Amino acid sequence: MTVSLWQRNPTHSTEHCDVAIVGAGITGLSAAIELESRGISCIVLESDFAGSKASGRNAGYLIRGAAENYALASRKLGRDMTRYLWDWTQQNLVGLKQLGLESTPGYAPRPSCVVALGEPEHSELIESHEMMREDGLRVDLIDQSSAPRDPLWRSGKPTIGLVNPDDAVCSPIDLVQLLAASLSSTPLFEHAEVYRVEDEGSRIRLRSRPVDVLCSRVLVCTNAYAADLIRDLEGIIVPNRGQMLCVEPRDRSDARLEYAYYLNHGSEYVRSAPNNQIIFGGARTYHADNERTSADEISNEVQDHLEQFMRELITSEYRVTARWSGIMGFSPDGMPVITQCRIHTLENPNIWFCGGLTGHGMSMGYQTGRHAARVMLEHEPTRFGLDRFRA
Ligand SMILES: Cc1cc2nc3c(=O)[nH]c(=O)nc-3n(C[C@H](O)[C@H](O)[C@H](O)COP(=O)(O)OP(=O)(O)OC[C@H]3O[C@@H](n4cnc5c(N)ncnc54)[C@H](O)[C@@H]3O)c2cc1C
Repeated sequence: MTVSLWQRNPTHSTEHCDVAIVGAGITGLSAAIELESRGISCIVLESDFAGSKASGRNAGYLIRGAAENYALASRKLGRDMTRYLWDWTQQNLVGLKQLGLESTPGYAPRPSCVVALGEPEHSELIESHEMMREDGLRVDLIDQSSAPRDPLWRSGKPTIGLVNPDDAVCSPIDLVQLLAASLSSTPLFEHAEVYRVEDEGSRIRLRSRPVDVLCSRVLVCTNAYAADLIRDLEGIIVPNRGQMLCVEPRDRSDARLEYAYYLNHGSEYVRSAPNNQIIFGGARTYHADNERTSADEISNEVQDHLEQFMRELITSEYRVTARWSGIMGFSPDGMPVITQCRIHTLENPNIWFCGGLTGHGMSMGYQTGRHAARVMLEHEPTRFGLDRFRA
């Protein structure tokens, strides 16, 4: 965005801090929590409102690992990195619980279950189960004879399911509010889109309409919108749309889903939501070209596809209660990216980016945002640098 001479707010002030954070989603707010706990003065600038983008629009799964199964992730990332990622997400949930997540209204302990609807996923889940046990992870394997008789299993479609017993679900907006409320000395400016960044000798000036911020360091946590400020991230952090459908089944007494389910290699996901509703998300991969977009709106083709899944797998008698979309920032390997960067042409070693949490920001954003703050401040070693792609 640019701002015209006439649009500039003539009464706006200049605030001073050590670190300015751009973006008040899970990642930016978590980084602010870490900085504040270290006594670093910090300001968060958010173009809309906290949780207005992916962090307030997702499915609320707090899963260990990724949507992909362990065997497949190991082939893609290597066994060591996969084990690391599973630990990382486990620590994310532990940290959120320490912050008070369990007392938020939308939180519930809810095992996640990665389900196979056929081959090759069936064999991959058996392999994943073995590998996870070898790596000391708590995991169960269920089939039609041992699975709960909930609507998904009653459909007869799943052949096998890999259960992560310690996972949970929450309301994403509760989580964002919890993070924001955990900040005591850090101002959060909403409706403050950063539209320009300028070098002022030893300081960096961030311009937004309500306020200018003069700081020593900047951490950009704008996720799918990364390339708007940081052109070098174009093609690395790629906007991808996710869509969701929420329904109220006619027979509500019999519609509860026991687990938070992942289907088709994590491409689809379905779980029970408050008031006996069911949310179904995904179907992006079947319309991938159209869904590679930052347009935050639903499309008929994906919504129809989600309804088809709902009818085939859960229930054909329902009332639609909500439909929505959100934009994710995908990285090439689905792992976060933490890097020094330039904003437009401004080269300054004190400008950093953290994002690209792909479809897993709830499951790793708290851990990753805090880590990014330490990488920037103390050069904590990280596995999430851009150099991994060059290698
Ligand atoms: C439909 C859907 C379902 C999902 N389901 C899950 C799930 O169940 N579990 C899970 O782990 N993950 C899920 N995800 C992914 C997860 O939501 C994201 O990975 C996570 O929210 C990313 O957090 P973030 O803070 O990095 O980005 P965001 O929440 O997108 O925050 C970035 C912020 O930066 C702000 N911003 C952008 N540009 C500027 C600027 N110039 N100036 C100031 N502010 C700016 C934006 O307004 C935004 O608030 C899902 C995503 C979607 C869309």
